Amino acid sequence: MNRLRFNWIISAALALSAAPFIKAQEGDLKKLQGIWTVLSLEVNGQKMNALPSARFLIDGDHFKSQGMGAEYEGTIELNASASPKALTFNFTAGPEAGNRSLGIYELTGDDLRICITTRGDARPTAFASPANSGIALEVLKHQHVSHDLGFDDTPMLPGLPFHVHDYLRPHPHVVTPSAEPGGPPSDATVLFDGKDLSNWKGQASSITHAGAEGPAEWKVENGYMEVVPKTGDIATREKFGDCQLHVEWSAPNPPHGQDQDRGNSGVFLQGLYEIQVLDSYDNVTYADGEAAAVYGQYPPQVNAARKPGEWQTYDIVFHGPRFAASGTLLRKANITVFFNGVLVQDHVEPTGPTEHHQRPPYKPTPEKLPLALQDHNHPVRYRNLWIRELKEGQ
Ligand code: MG
Repeated sequence: MNRLRFNWIISAALALSAAPFIKAQEGDLKKLQGIWTVLSLEVNGQKMNALPSARFLIDGDHFKSQGMGAEYEGTIELNASASPKALTFNFTAGPEAGNRSLGIYELTGDDLRICITTRGDARPTAFASPANSGIALEVLKHQHVSHDLGFDDTPMLPGLPFHVHDYLRPHPHVVTPSAEPGGPPSDATVLFDGKDLSNWKGQASSITHAGAEGPAEWKVENGYMEVVPKTGDIATREKFGDCQLHVEWSAPNPPHGQDQDRGNSGVFLQGLYEIQVLDSYDNVTYADGEAAAVYGQYPPQVNAARKPGEWQTYDIVFHGPRFAASGTLLRKANITVFFNGVLVQDHVEPTGPTEHHQRPPYKPTPEKLPLALQDHNHPVRYRNLWIRELKEGQ
């Protein structure tokens, strides 16, 4: 059974509202009002995995389901005089709009058992889901809604299908933070865990003009990786779009050189927009080339650099540019950076890719591209790199 059909079955089974029902059925309909959760589901004789976040609102003669991908809506007809009691689901919106499903139900207090067709037009006669029958059997539990869980009589939010405090608004996914501050949360992609460069590949450096497509040649030891000068940049094998990125880096100690020639590297978002990495502790250079600058465009708001040899953090929020199919720029990129926990870039919009001495315009690019780290001829170290892809509109 495909996912869509599976969703529909659950929706249908839980979509217990009633449209034009007759007086004798009012008792059952009243009892079905509210939110129901699925305790178990069996289809064609096979038990399905539970969907703990699935919820269904039965509100008057309408139902809605959520927590299973698409939203399903419809009405229900009840016949409480039949034996067993009968129901018919009529889908009016969503992927199953225009379809109907025939079923029977048994309601005891907050416990509900439903047996419905997933195909065909023969109403089940017993609470069973034989193999290849096209029949689903479900056990449901009434969830008593208090106002701690939400409301449906409050103003609608502009542009959204939700009331203020709507109890049908999807709950945020649970993400387990790292046990250690700065560590990857449970939904992050770990780009470098201190052990190997398997997530990275080598590529030519625009600065040292060294390196080429192939294995990443930077050094890995003691839980960090270190730029091996003149081996080229490294880039992730995976491509990323909008993201939250955590990077830890350390400039060489004792320091060598000055201004741009001291602990220079860089974090290139999508390989195009450089967040400068530089030993900016007691080291003067042009402002838009300091550590945490959007290179050549936006100096950091403050210089929050630690001493060379100390581990420093970048926490970056990046939203990539958007282009029309014609290539027209619809929206610039957008970057926020915390440097050692200090806000240094606040929603700045690059004027285009970052370059030395230049300010190139945007060119149409894919929404996802590899992240790159720069070989600028200095043995800068990196560790604990992780990334979380972001979805807009949440
Ligand atoms: Mg650099």
